Amino acid sequence: TAQVETLEFQSEARQLLQLMIHSVYSNKDTFLRELVSNASDALDKLRLEAFQDKELDVSTDDLHVELETDAVARTLTVRDNGIGMSRDEVVSLIGTIAKSGTAEFLAKLKESKQSDELIGQFGVGFYSSFMVADKVTLVTRRAGAAEGVRWESAGEGTYTIEPVEDAPQGTSVTLHLKPEDREDKLLDYTDKTTLTTIVKRYSDFITWPIRLGEDTLNSMKALWARADATEEEYAEFYKHISHDWQAPLESFRLQAEGTFEYQALLFLPAKAPFDLFMRERKRGVQLYVKRVFIMDDCEALMPEYLRFVKGVVDAQDLSLNVSREILQQDRQIERIRRRLVKKVLQTVKALPEEKYRTFWGEFGRAIKEGLLDDADNREAILELCSFDSTHSADEQTSLASYVERMKEGQEHIYFLTGDSRQSVEHSPHLEAFQDKGFEVLVLTDPIDEMWVDQVPEFGGKKFQSIAKGQVDLDDEKDPEQQEEFSGLLEWLKSTLEEQVKDVRLSSRLTTSPACIVGDSYDMTPTLEKMYRAMGQ
Ligand code: ADP
Ligand code: MG
Repeated sequence: TAQVETLEFQSEARQLLQLMIHSVYSNKDTFLRELVSNASDALDKLRLEAFQDKELDVSTDDLHVELETDAVARTLTVRDNGIGMSRDEVVSLIGTIAKSGTAEFLAKLKESKQSDELIGQFGVGFYSSFMVADKVTLVTRRAGAAEGVRWESAGEGTYTIEPVEDAPQGTSVTLHLKPEDREDKLLDYTDKTTLTTIVKRYSDFITWPIRLGEDTLNSMKALWARADATEEEYAEFYKHISHDWQAPLESFRLQAEGTFEYQALLFLPAKAPFDLFMRERKRGVQLYVKRVFIMDDCEALMPEYLRFVKGVVDAQDLSLNVSREILQQDRQIERIRRRLVKKVLQTVKALPEEKYRTFWGEFGRAIKEGLLDDADNREAILELCSFDSTHSADEQTSLASYVERMKEGQEHIYFLTGDSRQSVEHSPHLEAFQDKGFEVLVLTDPIDEMWVDQVPEFGGKKFQSIAKGQVDLDDEKDPEQQEEFSGLLEWLKSTLEEQVKDVRLSSRLTTSPACIVGDSYDMTPTLEKMYRAMGQ
C-alpha cells in the first residue's frame, strides 16, 4: 500500500549491521539474551508508567515474554506486552545509534583483530538478531496509542515502516532464521530444547515469566535477593543490566536491615567502556523499589568517579513515585550511597593481585578523579592507587610500598609530573634525586596534575614535587662556589629578566648545566598547558 515507507539506516547503524550480518561474534546464541533483555526492560517500563500515570489505559495483569516458533517457516518470535514503541521511537531507537562515540568505536573496530572483545564493550543489542536472521520483522504498539507500526529489514542499508491497525500492545520481533549451518555453529532456534537451554543459561533471573507454549522457562527470582546465586548467574545478570557482553571482574552483594532496608548487587566490569571519559557518560546503578524497576543511571547512588560500577539497589521504603530530584536530597539515599562507595573501595582493595592490576589498568584514571571529588574517602582512595616510579621500569608501586622504601631521613614522597614516562625520565630535575638514590613517582596522567595540587599527604608524608621550589636534598650552599659564580648569576639574571624570576646555583643537577624550576605555588608546565588548552 501507499503507506509503506522505505527509509535508510543512519550510516553508523549500517556499519554495525554489516558487522552483525558478517558475524564477527562467535557466540551467536546471545541474540536471544538481547531480545529477552529488551522485552524485560519494556515490561519494567510499562509497569512503572502504569503506576505513575493512572490515566494510561493498559492492563498490567499478565505481563510476560513469549517465544513462538514455526519450524516450517523457520521463524522465531519474541513477544512482550510491554511499553511498545511509537513510529518515531522505532525510527530513532532502531534505525539509528545515538550513543556518542560510535564513529570512533567503529573506526577502532575496523583496525582491530579483537572484534569480539570490542563488540562486547559496545553492546549491539537488537542488531544482534542479524547474526542469525536474514530478515527481521518488528511489530509494536505503544501503550495508550491507537495504532501500531510494522518495521522490517534484511539489515542491508534500508528498512520499511508502515502503520498497522490491529497490533496488540507491546512488541513482537520475528526472526526469519538463516539456513541452518552446523559449521558456523548455528543451532536450530526453532527447537524447544535449544531455546529452553539458552533461556535458562542467559535469562533465568529475568523477573517476568518467559513462556514457550505452556511452560515458563525461567525461575524469575530477583538475583540480588538470593544468597545462593552462582558466579555464572551473576555474570548473566550483569550482562543484562550493563549491556556488556563479557563477564564482570568482580561481583559483590550488600544489604541493610532495620529502619531503612535495601539490598544491592554490584559489579566491577573487566573492561572499561569505550566512552568512560566522554562527557555524557552515564552511571551504572539501577534503582528498584520493592522489586519494581524505577530508573537506570541513578546518579544519586554512585559518585561520578565510580561511574563504571554497575549494579542494582533495591530499596524497601521509598515511594514508587520518587524522582531524580527527590533522590538527590534524600538523606537515606545519601547514606546508602556512602555505604556503597565504601564497599566498592574495600572490594577493590581486597582484589587479588592480578585482578587488581586489570582493574587499575582499566579504571585507575577514573578512580584518581575521586582524589579531587571525594575528600571523605581520600585516604582510602590513595591506598588503592598505583603509580609508575623510578624504583622499577615496568611495575607500578603503591604508596605504602613507596613509604616502606623511603631512605633514612627522607621526609617527603617525591614526584615529578609530565607528559610521558620517557619525557619525565629525561628531565634534568631527576638527576640529583636518582644520583642520591631517592625514589621518585612518575606521574603522567593528566588527572595527576590536578590531584597533586589538592592532596597534601599520604599517611602523614607530604607529597613534594621535585620540579618546584627549594627541594632540600642535603645542601648547605657552598659559600665559595656562591662567591665564584656570583658574577655569572648576576649577568644571567639581568639578561633573562623578562623570562625568569631568579637564577640560583643548584645542587640538583649532575650532568645537565641548567634547569627551570617552578615556585612552590606555581602551576606545573603540563597543568599550564592544560589550562591554556581549555582556554583559561
Ligand atoms: P539497548 O537495549 O542497549 O538500549 P537495543 O539495541 O537492545 O539497545 O535496543 C534499542 C532500544 O530500542 C531500546 O533502548 C528500547 O528503547 C527499544 N526497544 C528495543 N526492544 C524493545 C521492546 N521489545 N519494547 C520496547 N522498546 C524496545
Ligand atoms: Mg537491549
